[in-house]
Amino acid sequence: MQAIQMVDLKGQYLKIKPEIDEVIQNVIDESAFIKGKQVKDFEREIAAYTGAKHCISCANGTDALQIALMALNIREEDEIIVPAFTYIATVETAALLRIKIILVDVDPDTFNIDPLKLEEAITSKTKAIIPVHLYGQCADMESIMHIAQKYNLSVIEDAAQSIGATYISTNGSMNKAGTIGTIGCTSFFPSKNLGCFGDGGAMFINDDALALKATMIANHGQAKKYTHEIIGINSRLDTLQAAILSIKLRKLDEYILARQKAAEYYDLHLDQSKVVIPQRSAASSHVFHQYTLKIKNQDRDILKTKLQESGIPSMVYYPLPVHLQPAFSSLGYKKGDFPVAEQLCSKVISLPMHTELSEEQLAYVTKHVNLFA
Ligand SMILES: *Cc1c(COP(=O)(O)O)cnc(C)c1O
Repeated sequence: MQAIQMVDLKGQYLKIKPEIDEVIQNVIDESAFIKGKQVKDFEREIAAYTGAKHCISCANGTDALQIALMALNIREEDEIIVPAFTYIATVETAALLRIKIILVDVDPDTFNIDPLKLEEAITSKTKAIIPVHLYGQCADMESIMHIAQKYNLSVIEDAAQSIGATYISTNGSMNKAGTIGTIGCTSFFPSKNLGCFGDGGAMFINDDALALKATMIANHGQAKKYTHEIIGINSRLDTLQAAILSIKLRKLDEYILARQKAAEYYDLHLDQSKVVIPQRSAASSHVFHQYTLKIKNQDRDILKTKLQESGIPSMVYYPLPVHLQPAFSSLGYKKGDFPVAEQLCSKVISLPMHTELSEEQLAYVTKHVNLFA
């Protein structure tokens, strides 16, 4: 059996090597490394895939979040609402812009922001909600959009882990993650479901004026070269990355299916008296950026060590909630403020999840989790 990896980027590349190598060589031959035509092509293709009117690419998912906040003119003294259980990038950019971060606890089963607690956190200063579609499954967008409309708030979806996930509203309408809120942000970090060969990110926007503003902010605040109408940043998707992403986008649904099949295997074979398998929301498909268990009895860190000793990598996303991160102590929260997030930090463990897992490897992982959990 091949060594098991958390993510197998090399194996995935080898299957599409000729196509990838060709487009890389083309970019080098053309040498339009910045703003080459492949960037616009990719933006158009992923806009079509997601159904968003506009896709604006940028340098990474963190920048996408920052540009979104800037484009919506959210500034100092304004408040935004963010789940306490997420990757730090979701709150980092707001902190840099000196926006007040209001944390809200998450649902213990879906790991996503709890809409009831979200509504309680709204004040007259609230400007936006940033739901995170954690691990690849959409947050309760219907409730979130309803609340946003009621209080006239913007919604910035953090879809870094959920590209390709489909959200199904009660009226039956289906929308891709990142296209439901005011702005959707995603990341093409190599290990994400649609990963490039370095850093990359994008925003999805349906409003024309807002899309133009975000495009300008990502490019030094200019629409016309050397005329800077607003203060922007330098955040671009490299032509090389765009060319690679165009190839991989065509495989995305196939990649998602491979992840879902691996997840199904785990579901069927893990001992549910010992672990809680990921709950599926009726309103969202799950694209399994991560397959994350909650451990019932065993000490999570002991399980992690025992798996490691058997050659099975695992990861803890995330060991600390936002409010207990040293860098965010100034938010003024304390231990006990978000009990669900805190509990999850000590209970969750993510198993190897990628497009190249063999049944032999899956069997080996499940056998050992069942043995040690
Ligand atoms: C990866 C990630 C980001 C940031 O994306 P980068 O491209 O690494 O900057 C933001 N939010 C979440 C939830 C992520 O998983």
